[in-house]
Amino acid sequence: MPSPLCLKGGTRMELFAPVNKVIPFSLVDGPGSRCSVFLQGCNIACAYCHNPETQNLCEECGLCVEQCPAGALYREGRHVRWNKDACVQCDTCIHVCPHKASPKIEWLTPSEVFAIVHSYQPFIRGITVSGGECMLHAHWMRELFALCREAGLGTLIDSNGCVPFEGHNDLLDVADGVMLDVKAWDEGTFAQLTSGDVRVVKRNLALLAERDKIEELRIVVVPGWNDPEATIAGIADVLDEKLAQTKLKLIRFRRFGVVGTLANADSPTDERMGELEALAREAGFGQVELR
Ligand code: SF4
Ligand code: SF4
Repeated sequence: MPSPLCLKGGTRMELFAPVNKVIPFSLVDGPGSRCSVFLQGCNIACAYCHNPETQNLCEECGLCVEQCPAGALYREGRHVRWNKDACVQCDTCIHVCPHKASPKIEWLTPSEVFAIVHSYQPFIRGITVSGGECMLHAHWMRELFALCREAGLGTLIDSNGCVPFEGHNDLLDVADGVMLDVKAWDEGTFAQLTSGDVRVVKRNLALLAERDKIEELRIVVVPGWNDPEATIAGIADVLDEKLAQTKLKLIRFRRFGVVGTLANADSPTDERMGELEALAREAGFGQVELR
């Protein structure tokens, strides 16, 4: 694994980030057709995570190397390497990994990712960087967004809200906006659901509202686990007059891909989602969408 900050070409400092995958065209990661870049590694662990294999960086235990049916994984010293060309995408490595990690990542610079994104430019409106948690690579993202902006592409951040945006004005200067998760409002509920600290999310919410950088807010409705009414009321209180220009997405919990405690949990009913939609509209959100 390269150091996140390395000398490249002998002269210029370049950053690297662990890229899990790049989806060329996505219609669900912001407005229009977008190229979505997913980074590996997260700073929290949601009970309803649909991609648990993106939570951690590989610990190089080597367990998946012997299980790979295509010989696409190998050791180089103590490191586990992935041969992308030999991989048949069977995901055996993901299933056997005990660390919620993936060996199928590439450490790439902003210029390398921009080159990929740029190749799709005639067909996309912009780029969305997601995770894991992409704010763990804020400086890297700033470089990438600056390149995208220069090329005329839109730039969105998809964040769990648990990394402070404070001190990242340079990133926000080149980002069109942030799609921010607000997973619960009560501190204990949030910690139980995610292992994170909701006070960071609340500070981010206020900061992003002040800078007019909220693209959309998202609440996943998990029956018996979070507090959507309190979350809607809490957000309304923080955003105040900005509420009318804010889009809220209410997302139904679905068990697909979920492991652990919520693997067999039920989705909320249509009636429950309808009630929450009405409540959010009544609270004053400019736009409310159910998903
Ligand atoms: S998905 Fe994993 S196990 Fe399957 S071929 Fe690729 S590297 Fe090997
Ligand atoms: S991906 Fe998981 S199983 Fe494979 S070497 Fe890394 S930590 Fe071990």
